[in-house]
Amino acid sequence: MIEFDGMSFNDLISRRIMGELGQHDPSYADLAQDQVANRVTRQSFMATLAKINGLPFMPRIADFCEPSLHANCDATVMTRGYFAPLCLSGTDKLIVAIANPWSPLPGEYLAPRFPDHEIVEVVTLVSEINRAIESVATNSGPSRSELESIDVEDMDDKIRDFDVTTEYSEPMSQLIATIMADAVKTRASDIHFKVEKESFYYCYRVDGDLGQKFEIPMKLKDRLDAFLLNLMKLPTETRNTAPGISGRFTISYFHRPIDVRYERHRTYRGYHVTMRLLDKGNINVTLGKGTLAFDDETLFALSKVMKIPAGIIVMSGPTGSGKSTTLNAILRELNRPEVNILTLENPVEDEVPGITHCDLKSAKEFKPMIASFMRSDPDIILMGEVRDLESAELAIEAAVTGHKVLTTIHTPRASQIIERFEQLGIERWKIAQTLKAACAQRLVKLLCPYCKEPIPGISDLDRKTFCLDETWAATQLFAAKPGGCHECRHSGYSGRTAILEIIPITPKISDQLSKGLMSPYELEVKIAEEGVLPNLRRSGLRLLREGKTDLAAVSKVIDMTYTDD
Ligand SMILES: [Zn+2]
Repeated sequence: MIEFDGMSFNDLISRRIMGELGQHDPSYADLAQDQVANRVTRQSFMATLAKINGLPFMPRIADFCEPSLHANCDATVMTRGYFAPLCLSGTDKLIVAIANPWSPLPGEYLAPRFPDHEIVEVVTLVSEINRAIESVATNSGPSRSELESIDVEDMDDKIRDFDVTTEYSEPMSQLIATIMADAVKTRASDIHFKVEKESFYYCYRVDGDLGQKFEIPMKLKDRLDAFLLNLMKLPTETRNTAPGISGRFTISYFHRPIDVRYERHRTYRGYHVTMRLLDKGNINVTLGKGTLAFDDETLFALSKVMKIPAGIIVMSGPTGSGKSTTLNAILRELNRPEVNILTLENPVEDEVPGITHCDLKSAKEFKPMIASFMRSDPDIILMGEVRDLESAELAIEAAVTGHKVLTTIHTPRASQIIERFEQLGIERWKIAQTLKAACAQRLVKLLCPYCKEPIPGISDLDRKTFCLDETWAATQLFAAKPGGCHECRHSGYSGRTAILEIIPITPKISDQLSKGLMSPYELEVKIAEEGVLPNLRRSGLRLLREGKTDLAAVSKVIDMTYTDD
């Protein structure tokens, strides 16, 4: 039975899909049914469903959705049934986007609602159907009068999976639901609520940047706080004494569950709450696609790294640089029935069929969990993060005993990974011999294609500041338009792409590092000079030259104020 994007297909249909996939792409011919979700792209899969049923496949369709057609339809039914009416063609045809051509539901549901129309189906991605439904549902932030009307007294305190796309009569529930639904819609990674001396506000972090602050009446601060704590069944009494409170809950967005990690700390004036949205719909990314659309040079270097049989592969970078997204994508690639993959994460972000995910409930569990892992016959271990001597030692022990270990560490540069292990108390030779690849990643904002503005070149001052040679003075480039446009929500940017730096530690390099003949920094410089392996600065400048990003976005995530020569 194939499962894909939440849809499941019976055995008979699954066999037909497998046959057609093999014809579509010979590399799919040997797949087992349970590998389809990991190894076949959404586009290929949906195109295959369309082909089997003789229907057109249209991968981008949500923008054509005519809102008035949704007036008599229930968003829940459409989301669950994977369909959405799109537009009328002529006077008698209704074009409907569907994802599962074998489902009779779209026809059964829509026929009585559009009795004078013939239903014409087109196949699209599940994400497009969701986008079409979302684009019609209007929740564009609470108004001032709605906010003021919220009563500070009584409230509803027993809500399980908090559905943020339904209507609540209780105003505080409605306020939080609207704020959270907007966050998901704008693809925010975090929501902040902050009490300052004279203001109380919330804001979203989108594509790495904190956005506009939305004021909330100060009188609501305690009630909002209590509401969120209640949502997680956490005692509200401790909030004025506990320095920090952590929790988790799940929201339901058009019936799609999204995990939320909650963190609250007391402040001088009240509190600061941060909620991180772990939207699984966004992190199911494949190497070479979406955010991880690396260039060929990077993909080749990465594919070599993945073939290393044993040893540690470390991904470094600051928080929010997408390290775990890339490691998860690598795990998806390595995921085969004959390989035993175990992960130890806090929290589990991306559940992949065939991989055993474990979540770390406290730091104390780390050692016993890894010890138990080692006895569970693993081939590949993903360790969320190396943060102390204990986790560093366990990673090395696992690598020495023949396992492939993937992990992350907080250092800006790839070469600093070795020094970081040393700081934690690991001898240089030990890490030099077990580390097989040191990688660094950044996410670079991409210019909004609808409003980016051409610029004739880079100014003298910027060239001096960012060590760019003369040629950049006359290179035609693009920059973000101040104030952006409607398409990019007035930010000038739209989405991000990952860039990687990879330093492979070959036996020769390992030997030189162990003996102290070369420092990790000298290694990084040497590799940059050779110019073969992917490098952060070079990849960033390539995006700039290609007009995909601007200097402000590149210099924000990569320190370009020096060069190594
Ligand atoms: Zn724009």
